[in-house]
Amino acid sequence: MQTNMKTLREYIKEAEEKGVAIGHFNISNLETLHGIYSAATKLNVPVVIGVSEGEEVFVGLEEAVALVQTIRERDNYPIFLNADHHASFESVKNSIDAGFDAVIIDAAKLPYEENVAVTKQCVEYAREVSKNTGRDILVEAELGYIGSGSNIKDSIPEGAGILTNPDEAKRFVKETGIDLLAPSVGSIHGLIKSGKLHINAELVKEIRQAVGIPLVLHGGSGLRDEDFTNAISSGIAMVHINSEIRLAFKEAVEKSIDTNPTEITPAKILQPAVDAIEQVVEARLRLFNKPF
Ligand SMILES: [Zn+2]
Repeated sequence: MQTNMKTLREYIKEAEEKGVAIGHFNISNLETLHGIYSAATKLNVPVVIGVSEGEEVFVGLEEAVALVQTIRERDNYPIFLNADHHASFESVKNSIDAGFDAVIIDAAKLPYEENVAVTKQCVEYAREVSKNTGRDILVEAELGYIGSGSNIKDSIPEGAGILTNPDEAKRFVKETGIDLLAPSVGSIHGLIKSGKLHINAELVKEIRQAVGIPLVLHGGSGLRDEDFTNAISSGIAMVHINSEIRLAFKEAVEKSIDTNPTEITPAKILQPAVDAIEQVVEARLRLFNKPF
């Protein structure tokens, strides 16, 4: 990595100071990466690429690292790679070893003490590797349940939406030493047909104050604009978007094949999907980077 580029930790700090948020977008193919990167460079803002455990298997662990690092080094551009929602120490370790810039250990479904134990193990490993390699690997964890799966749901899943308690969050951060916290503040993973809840901006503020580390908003797809802006002005420093990109990809590919049924060149079939993703990401990045 170039010495003149800030680390992801520094970009997140800068976003907090500016009152904006960094966009985190998931990929499972090259088309999505190209669409996201085009949008980010248009606005000249740092961007985080996420791969979940499933997406990581499809893309390839080392391939994901190679893709993002190649762009970063070629263009000297702040594009970073995050292991999104990894459920075990082993899978977090694999991502760290492969060269990811950040990881999310997602043990929020486990009882509190077990969540603390596995999260702590991930933090200790990340610190050890950072020390030995000169990298600065960030560890994020989740507290409170925000559902799972970047898909389309009829209604809010049972058990999801249990809000994070600020005092418990403070204790959790202290006990684990994490760098970033994903609290549950009203958003749910996926797109919800019956509509999403509002973000509890007051709770965001309380948690940010209590924990003293940057907060990450998950389940951003389908939220109202004012939910994003309220969340960001209350202390959210990074926002995750996945389902909206998946939907844009699917609809663009469907339309592309319907419109040109004899076309067999993948680049021609898929270019509209790249363009559609770029549009979705650009609109989100404009919103996240709106000064208040
Ligand atoms: Zn998430």
